Amino acid sequence: MKSVMGNYQIVRKHEIHCGHRVYQHENKCNNLHGHSYIFHLKCVSKDLDSLGRVIDFAVIKDIVCKWLDDNWDHKMILWEDDPMLPELSKLDPSVVSIPYNPTAENLARHLVENIAPTLFVGLPISLTEVNIEETSKCSASYAISN
Ligand SMILES: [Zn+2]
Repeated sequence: MKSVMGNYQIVRKHEIHCGHRVYQHENKCNNLHGHSYIFHLKCVSKDLDSLGRVIDFAVIKDIVCKWLDDNWDHKMILWEDDPMLPELSKLDPSVVSIPYNPTAENLARHLVENIAPTLFVGLPISLTEVNIEETSKCSASYAISN
């Protein structure tokens, strides 16, 4: 009989407000616009700590939610190849860029693949999935297997 290795998962929810545009979108998402994004941050561990937790939720807040507040909240997020980026950055240095067209799918991917590994160095957990509610009707996810 095959044994199955399980893991523990917790999800922290966090809301921020950002501008973006989806470059070359066929419709109005090509315009600069904004969303109240609700992030669902799934963290996974193989073992629990001495109190029986994946990790204290306050640690997720202090690390990932803070990163979102400091880096993306109330900012305009553009693709680094967006032709608007150079001019807009001159007018507003708070504009941020990511290596992908900033759809909710790619924002989730950027957090999981590029940001979380640098934030979780030395911690026994991984950010394995991010689900982002872009509107009350639409959400997107990116996940890696642990
Ligand atoms: Zn949008």
